Amino acid sequence: MNTLRLSTREEDLNIAGRIIRDGGLVAFPTETVYGLGADALNAEAVASVYRAKGRPSDNPMIVHIADATGLYELIEGGASGLSEEASKLITNLWPGPLTMVFRKSDIIPDVTTGGLDTVAVRMPSNPTARRLIRAAGRPIAAPSANLSGKPSPTTADDVLEDMNGRIDAVVMGEQCDVGIESTVLDLTGDIPYILRPGAVTREKLMSVLKRSVLYDSSLLERPDAIADPSEGVADTDFKPKSPGMKYKHYSPNASVKLIHGNAEEFREKAKAIGIEAMKRGEKVAILDYDNDPGKAAHKLFAELRELDRQGYSLILIRMLDEEGFGFSVMNRMLKSAGYDIVK
Ligand code: AMP
Ligand code: MG
Repeated sequence: MNTLRLSTREEDLNIAGRIIRDGGLVAFPTETVYGLGADALNAEAVASVYRAKGRPSDNPMIVHIADATGLYELIEGGASGLSEEASKLITNLWPGPLTMVFRKSDIIPDVTTGGLDTVAVRMPSNPTARRLIRAAGRPIAAPSANLSGKPSPTTADDVLEDMNGRIDAVVMGEQCDVGIESTVLDLTGDIPYILRPGAVTREKLMSVLKRSVLYDSSLLERPDAIADPSEGVADTDFKPKSPGMKYKHYSPNASVKLIHGNAEEFREKAKAIGIEAMKRGEKVAILDYDNDPGKAAHKLFAELRELDRQGYSLILIRMLDEEGFGFSVMNRMLKSAGYDIVK
């Protein structure tokens, strides 16, 4: 298959929209990461997304819409099925990097939701993404546009590295602003649960809802046990409610190690580890994001991919404080590193 490179011009987005309506696959930029889009209501098209990514079929997709009214056909009970809390979140935080999980309506094929009776929906703020959804005239199911297990793509070139020849087209937009995937919030129970942390933080959600919001316990039950389990943990079983969270994720070919400490401590430790590794013949890269989660999120996945291209075999990264957005970015860093932390 020859993968078309499309621009963000109107005529190209119309071509992209038609490809999606015809059951094809188009990668496109959003403010979080590049998505690999298919018509969310076309079971065949969605099945081909799983194939293109090598994604396990029990890992459901996020359905993207351009307008809040597009939500009603997707959820149980339509417009009247929308809770007051969901409405508040939509008013305050959509469009943006927040995905909400609702009970699904019957029009959504099982394959889109990995067989669950719930559906995850997001309204992206990226103008190109919104224009594409409107051009398609369909809700667009889109996971990240990478091969399963690799760091998510945040540039069009990173998408092509994984997907060239596997999908119909790529909309060649800008580098993604946020750089990590959306916050996933489960609104189907009595208490809202964060299933995946993102740029919309727990603090932000609580300030909008004026009530407690919990992290799914799987986000804190982890090998390195750094997070304080008394802080916002859901008192439930340890199975992730978001099926995707259990898979190997965000892994470059290089080994990644995380290092604690302030700038100077990090430099010292990284230097010592780096010198030893270089003696063994490793090619070593050192990444310090100055404890700035916004900067780290924006650059992390793109840099991991670039370092792979340049043949680095070991990447040493300075850890962030796990507060606010820092918690979300550390979730990705820890997975990239397979929880390998230098104390
Ligand atoms: P990705 O598309 O790669 O950003 O992954 C989408 C994420 O949303 C995965 O972690 C999924 O498990 C999660 N997700 C999608 N739909 C649902 C749902 N209905 N319930 C819970 N999590 C979901
Ligand atoms: Mg993904």
